[in-house]
Amino acid sequence: MSFAFFCKNGILYFVCRKSILAKMIVMFSKLENREEIRMKKEDCLFCKIANGEIPSTTIYENNDFRVIFDIAPASKGHALIIPKQHYNDIFDMDAETGGKLFSLATAVARALKKELNCEGMNIVQNNGLIAGQTVFHFHLHLIPRYTGDTVNIGWVPGEANQVELAELAKAVRKAI
Ligand code: 5GP
Ligand code: ZN
Repeated sequence: MSFAFFCKNGILYFVCRKSILAKMIVMFSKLENREEIRMKKEDCLFCKIANGEIPSTTIYENNDFRVIFDIAPASKGHALIIPKQHYNDIFDMDAETGGKLFSLATAVARALKKELNCEGMNIVQNNGLIAGQTVFHFHLHLIPRYTGDTVNIGWVPGEANQVELAELAKAVRKAI
Protein backbone atom coordinates (compact mmCIF):
# COMPACT_ATOMS: atom_id res chain seq x y z
CA MET A 1 0.00 0.00 0.00
CA SER A 2 1.33 3.49 -0.84
CA PHE A 3 -0.33 5.36 1.99
CA ALA A 4 -2.38 4.73 5.15
CA PHE A 5 -4.35 6.53 7.81
CA PHE A 6 -4.31 5.41 11.42
CA CYS A 7 -5.55 6.81 14.69
CA LYS A 8 -3.48 6.81 17.88
CA ASN A 9 -4.43 8.55 21.14
CA GLY A 10 -7.19 10.43 19.31
CA ILE A 11 -4.78 11.81 16.66
CA LEU A 12 -5.27 10.89 13.01
CA TYR A 13 -1.92 10.00 11.38
CA PHE A 14 -1.22 9.88 7.64
CA VAL A 15 1.77 7.92 6.33
CA CYS A 16 2.86 7.61 2.75
CA ARG A 17 5.86 6.89 0.54
CA LYS A 18 8.30 9.74 -0.06
CA SER A 19 7.42 9.81 -3.79
CA ILE A 20 3.71 10.28 -2.97
CA LEU A 21 4.53 13.06 -0.52
CA ALA A 22 6.60 14.78 -3.22
CA LYS A 23 3.71 14.49 -5.68
CA MET A 24 1.31 15.98 -3.11
CA ILE A 25 3.65 18.91 -2.45
CA VAL A 26 3.85 19.62 -6.21
CA MET A 27 0.04 19.33 -6.45
CA PHE A 28 -0.55 21.80 -3.62
CA SER A 29 2.04 24.27 -4.93
CA LYS A 30 0.30 24.14 -8.32
CA LEU A 31 -3.04 24.89 -6.62
CA GLU A 32 -1.42 27.87 -4.92
CA ASN A 33 -0.05 29.10 -8.25
CA ARG A 34 -3.47 28.72 -9.84
CA GLU A 35 -4.86 30.97 -7.09
CA GLU A 36 -2.24 33.58 -8.06
CA ILE A 37 -3.30 33.29 -11.70
CA ARG A 38 -6.91 33.76 -10.60
CA MET A 39 -5.93 36.84 -8.56
CA LYS A 40 -4.00 38.54 -11.31
CA LYS A 41 -2.94 37.52 -14.79
CA GLU A 42 0.39 38.66 -16.15
CA ASP A 43 0.07 41.01 -19.13
CA CYS A 44 -3.66 41.51 -18.64
CA LEU A 45 -4.59 45.15 -19.24
CA PHE A 46 -7.71 45.07 -17.07
CA CYS A 47 -5.89 43.29 -14.19
CA LYS A 48 -3.49 46.25 -14.21
CA ILE A 49 -6.28 48.83 -14.47
CA ALA A 50 -8.52 47.15 -11.87
CA ASN A 51 -5.65 46.88 -9.40
CA GLY A 52 -4.48 50.46 -9.95
CA GLU A 53 -1.16 49.66 -11.70
CA ILE A 54 -2.40 51.59 -14.74
CA PRO A 55 -4.24 54.80 -13.87
CA SER A 56 -7.86 55.22 -14.95
CA THR A 57 -10.70 57.62 -14.32
CA THR A 58 -12.23 55.68 -11.47
CA ILE A 59 -15.85 56.29 -10.63
CA TYR A 60 -15.90 53.86 -7.71
CA GLU A 61 -13.92 51.00 -6.23
CA ASN A 62 -14.27 48.47 -3.44
CA ASN A 63 -12.35 45.31 -2.51
CA ASP A 64 -13.74 43.35 -5.44
CA PHE A 65 -14.37 45.78 -8.31
CA ARG A 66 -13.25 48.98 -9.99
CA VAL A 67 -15.75 51.02 -12.00
CA ILE A 68 -14.19 53.20 -14.71
CA PHE A 69 -15.21 55.14 -17.79
CA ASP A 70 -14.61 53.39 -21.11
CA ILE A 71 -11.68 54.92 -23.05
CA ALA A 72 -13.68 54.82 -26.32
CA PRO A 73 -17.25 55.43 -25.11
CA ALA A 74 -20.28 54.34 -27.11
CA SER A 75 -22.14 57.22 -25.46
CA LYS A 76 -21.57 59.83 -22.77
CA GLY A 77 -20.96 58.09 -19.44
CA HIS A 78 -20.19 54.62 -20.88
CA ALA A 79 -18.81 52.82 -17.83
CA LEU A 80 -17.16 49.47 -17.17
CA ILE A 81 -17.35 47.39 -14.01
CA ILE A 82 -14.17 45.35 -13.76
CA PRO A 83 -13.49 42.66 -11.13
CA LYS A 84 -10.09 43.00 -9.42
CA GLN A 85 -9.54 39.27 -9.75
CA HIS A 86 -8.98 37.87 -13.19
CA TYR A 87 -11.91 36.09 -14.84
CA ASN A 88 -11.70 35.57 -18.60
CA ASP A 89 -15.45 35.75 -19.06
CA ILE A 90 -18.83 34.80 -17.54
CA PHE A 91 -18.08 31.09 -17.95
CA ASP A 92 -15.08 31.54 -15.69
CA MET A 93 -16.83 33.53 -12.95
CA ASP A 94 -18.26 32.08 -9.73
CA ALA A 95 -21.88 32.78 -8.79
CA GLU A 96 -20.95 34.71 -5.63
CA THR A 97 -18.82 37.22 -7.56
CA GLY A 98 -21.54 37.43 -10.21
CA GLY A 99 -24.06 38.27 -7.50
CA LYS A 100 -21.86 41.00 -6.03
CA LEU A 101 -21.23 42.34 -9.52
CA PHE A 102 -24.89 42.76 -10.36
CA SER A 103 -25.68 44.21 -6.97
CA LEU A 104 -23.04 46.89 -7.67
CA ALA A 105 -24.34 47.33 -11.24
CA THR A 106 -27.78 48.35 -9.96
CA ALA A 107 -26.25 51.09 -7.81
CA VAL A 108 -23.91 52.34 -10.56
CA ALA A 109 -26.73 52.31 -13.15
CA ARG A 110 -28.97 54.41 -10.91
CA ALA A 111 -26.14 56.85 -10.12
CA LEU A 112 -25.21 57.26 -13.80
CA LYS A 113 -28.85 57.81 -14.74
CA LYS A 114 -29.24 60.43 -12.03
CA GLU A 115 -26.10 62.37 -12.96
CA LEU A 116 -26.32 62.03 -16.75
CA ASN A 117 -30.05 62.32 -17.12
CA CYS A 118 -29.95 59.59 -19.72
CA GLU A 119 -33.24 58.17 -20.92
CA GLY A 120 -32.24 54.51 -20.75
CA MET A 121 -29.26 52.20 -20.50
CA ASN A 122 -27.93 49.04 -22.12
CA ILE A 123 -26.06 46.59 -19.94
CA VAL A 124 -23.76 44.65 -22.25
CA GLN A 125 -21.30 41.91 -21.46
CA ASN A 126 -19.39 40.19 -24.24
CA ASN A 127 -17.99 36.67 -23.87
CA GLY A 128 -15.62 35.34 -26.51
CA LEU A 129 -14.27 36.70 -29.76
CA ILE A 130 -17.42 35.64 -31.62
CA ALA A 131 -19.49 37.75 -29.20
CA GLY A 132 -17.33 40.83 -29.70
CA GLN A 133 -15.11 40.52 -26.63
CA THR A 134 -11.85 42.34 -27.24
CA VAL A 135 -10.42 42.49 -23.69
CA PHE A 136 -10.30 39.00 -22.22
CA HIS A 137 -10.79 39.99 -18.60
CA PHE A 138 -14.47 40.00 -17.62
CA HIS A 139 -16.14 43.44 -17.66
CA LEU A 140 -19.69 44.71 -17.66
CA HIS A 141 -20.58 47.62 -19.92
CA LEU A 142 -23.10 50.22 -18.73
CA ILE A 143 -24.07 52.27 -21.78
CA PRO A 144 -26.36 55.23 -21.14
CA ARG A 145 -28.84 55.90 -23.94
CA TYR A 146 -30.01 59.25 -25.29
CA THR A 147 -32.39 60.18 -28.10
CA GLY A 148 -30.35 60.51 -31.29
CA ASP A 149 -27.24 58.70 -29.96
CA THR A 150 -25.20 56.48 -32.30
CA VAL A 151 -25.20 53.33 -30.15
CA ASN A 152 -26.02 50.25 -32.19
CA ILE A 153 -26.92 47.09 -30.28
CA GLY A 154 -29.23 44.74 -32.11
CA TRP A 155 -30.04 41.52 -33.93
CA VAL A 156 -32.45 40.29 -36.55
CA PRO A 157 -35.38 38.63 -34.72
CA GLY A 158 -35.67 34.95 -35.66
CA GLU A 159 -38.52 32.45 -35.45
CA ALA A 160 -38.98 30.16 -32.44
CA ASN A 161 -39.88 26.48 -32.72
CA GLN A 162 -41.87 25.71 -29.56
CA VAL A 163 -41.11 21.97 -29.58
CA GLU A 164 -37.38 22.58 -29.94
CA LEU A 165 -37.50 25.25 -27.24
CA ALA A 166 -39.24 22.94 -24.77
CA GLU A 167 -36.57 20.25 -25.35
CA LEU A 168 -33.79 22.77 -25.03
CA ALA A 169 -35.30 24.20 -21.83
CA LYS A 170 -35.36 20.69 -20.34
CA ALA A 171 -31.73 20.02 -21.26
CA VAL A 172 -30.46 23.36 -19.99
CA ARG A 173 -32.51 23.08 -16.76
CA LYS A 174 -30.73 19.79 -16.12
CA ALA A 175 -27.35 21.41 -16.69
CA ILE A 176 -27.96 24.32 -14.26
P1 5GP B 1 -15.22 44.33 -25.10
O1 5GP B 1 -15.25 44.53 -26.58
O2 5GP B 1 -14.11 43.39 -24.68
O3 5GP B 1 -16.55 43.94 -24.52
O4 5GP B 1 -14.94 45.76 -24.49
C1 5GP B 1 -13.67 46.26 -24.20
C2 5GP B 1 -13.86 47.71 -23.88
O5 5GP B 1 -12.74 48.15 -23.18
C3 5GP B 1 -14.02 48.60 -25.09
O6 5GP B 1 -15.24 49.32 -25.01
C4 5GP B 1 -12.80 49.50 -25.04
O7 5GP B 1 -13.06 50.80 -25.47
C5 5GP B 1 -12.43 49.46 -23.58
N1 5GP B 1 -11.01 49.66 -23.31
C6 5GP B 1 -9.98 49.03 -23.94
N2 5GP B 1 -8.81 49.46 -23.42
C7 5GP B 1 -9.12 50.35 -22.45
C8 5GP B 1 -8.31 51.13 -21.56
O8 5GP B 1 -7.07 51.08 -21.55
N3 5GP B 1 -8.98 51.93 -20.68
C9 5GP B 1 -10.34 52.01 -20.64
N4 5GP B 1 -10.89 52.83 -19.75
N5 5GP B 1 -11.12 51.28 -21.48
C10 5GP B 1 -10.51 50.47 -22.36
ZN1 ZN C 1 -7.05 40.19 -15.97
